[in-house]
Amino acid sequence: MENHEHDTTECVACGKTIRPGDLGYGDVNNSGFMHADCAGTDPEDFTDAEGEPLPKGASIPKPYPY
Ligand SMILES: [Zn+2]
Repeated sequence: MENHEHDTTECVACGKTIRPGDLGYGDVNNSGFMHADCAGTDPEDFTDAEGEPLPKGASIPKPYPY
C-alpha cells in the first residue's frame, strides 16, 4: 500500500505546500515549516534555536530555504 502523505510539507500557517527553495522558518517543536511571509515580522512571534523567546530588541532570524 502506497502512502504519499509525507511526500509534501505544508506551511503550518497557511497550509499551502512548501516547495524546495521556499524561504521560511522551521518549528522546533513539531518540525513543521512556515513561509517567511506567513511568519510575519514581529520579533515576539519568534523563538531561538532552543524554543525560547527572543531577547527584547533582538532582530528576527533570517529565513532559510526549505
Ligand atoms: Zn504559508
